[in-house]
Amino acid sequence: MIVVMKKDAQQEDLDRVVGRVEKAGLGVHLSEGVEHTIVGVVGDVRHIRPEDLQVLSGVSRVVRIMHPFKLASREFQAETSEIRLNGFSIGGTEIPVMAGPCAVEDRETLLETARGVSASGATVLRGGAFKPRTSPYSFQGLGEDGLKMMAEARDETGLLIVTEVLSPGDVELVSSYADILQIGARNMQNYSLLHEVGAADRPVLLKRGMMSSVEEWLMSAEYVLSGGNSRVILCERGIRTFEGYTRNTLDLSAVPLAKGLTHLPVVVDPSHGTGRSDLVESMSMAAVAAGADGLLVEVHPRPDQALSDGPQSLTLEAFSDMMQRLRSIASAVDRRMVGVGSS
Ligand code: PEP
Ligand code: MN
Repeated sequence: MIVVMKKDAQQEDLDRVVGRVEKAGLGVHLSEGVEHTIVGVVGDVRHIRPEDLQVLSGVSRVVRIMHPFKLASREFQAETSEIRLNGFSIGGTEIPVMAGPCAVEDRETLLETARGVSASGATVLRGGAFKPRTSPYSFQGLGEDGLKMMAEARDETGLLIVTEVLSPGDVELVSSYADILQIGARNMQNYSLLHEVGAADRPVLLKRGMMSSVEEWLMSAEYVLSGGNSRVILCERGIRTFEGYTRNTLDLSAVPLAKGLTHLPVVVDPSHGTGRSDLVESMSMAAVAAGADGLLVEVHPRPDQALSDGPQSLTLEAFSDMMQRLRSIASAVDRRMVGVGSS
C-alpha cells in the first residue's frame, strides 16, 4: 500500500501517517521526491484499512498495489509518464530516436556521426565514454574526455546526450555532462548504482539485464523511483537464449507486457537486441508497431572500423533510410517520429 501526501502536506501530517502505520505493526518506507512525499507501507497490509489513512490530513490518496513493484506500477499511476526533455518528450505521442556510436572513439568521428543522425531526425546522441567490455583487453572508452566530446557535439547539433554510467562514484561526473544517464544491462541489478542514480537530477535509461525477467527489471526501476527520481525510461535490449544466429533475442513481447504493468515509458534497442545491422530496421519497425516509446540505435559512419559493436551498427545512410520508413509505421499506430520531416 502506498500513501501519497499532498504537495502542501506539513511535517506533522507526515508524522501522523507514519505513526498510524507503525501503530498497526507495519513498517514505513519514505520516498521524498520533488513533487510529493510517498509513504510506502511495508508488511502485512491487512492490518490497516486504506480508509483509516485516507482521512488523515495532508493525505492525497491511498493506493493498494498487488505487485512487488509499487511506484512503477500502473495502479500507482494510470497514465504513462511523459518525460519532458528539451523540445520533445518520451512517453507521449512522439517517438524520439537516440542514435550514435557504441563508444565515443575520437572527436571527428563523433561529430560526423552527430551531424548525420541529427540531419536524419534523431533527437538524442548516444555514445559510451565508460564502456562495460567483456574483455579487459578491449577498448574501455575515453572516460571524461569522451564526455567532453559528447558535450561538444550537443553544443554544435542541439542533440541531447545519453551515456552510460558504470559506477556509483561516477554518477556526479557523468551527470555534469549527460542529459540522460544510461544504466547498462550488466548493471541493472547493481543496487548501489541504482541508489546513486535515484538521487540524481537526470532521467535514467534503465536497460533490461540480459538474464533478467520483466519483474526484476521493474524492481530495479523501483529502486530508482523510491530513491526520489521519477524520471525512469525502460529499455528492452534483448535477452540471452539458446539462439546462436543473433547476439541476443530481442524480446518485443516485453514492450506491451511492461507497458501494461508500468506507467514508465519503454524504449527498444534493436542493435544490442540482435547484434546484426541487417536486422535493425525490421526490429525497429516492429518495436514501434508494438508500442515502443522510442528507439536506441547504434550508428557509425564506418562500421567496419568501429572500435566496438561494428557488426550491429548502421551506416549514416542506412539510418537515414530507416528513419524515413519508420514514419508510416508510427502513423499507423497514431504516433509520430519526432524530428523526421518529409523528404
Ligand atoms: C550500450 O548501449 O552501449 C551497451 C553496452 O548496452 P547493454 O548494456 O545493453 O549491453
Ligand atoms: Mn554497443
